[in-house]
Amino acid sequence: MPVGYGKRIREAVSAAKRKAAKRYKCPKCSRVAVKRTSPGIWQCRKCGAKIASGSYEFRA
Ligand SMILES: [Zn+2]
Repeated sequence: MPVGYGKRIREAVSAAKRKAAKRYKCPKCSRVAVKRTSPGIWQCRKCGAKIASGSYEFRA
């Protein structure tokens, strides 16, 4: 198995995990407090808004 192939997959996975761990701006209260609670579900820590979005990346 070519070594380069597996490396690209691992890099893509770690990039997705970094995005999933990031905080995003809440579309309701505009504060950067939205965190992923489970894949596809994001919640604002400030106003409590729950938003369904991408599994690994928040798209308002
Ligand atoms: Zn909010």
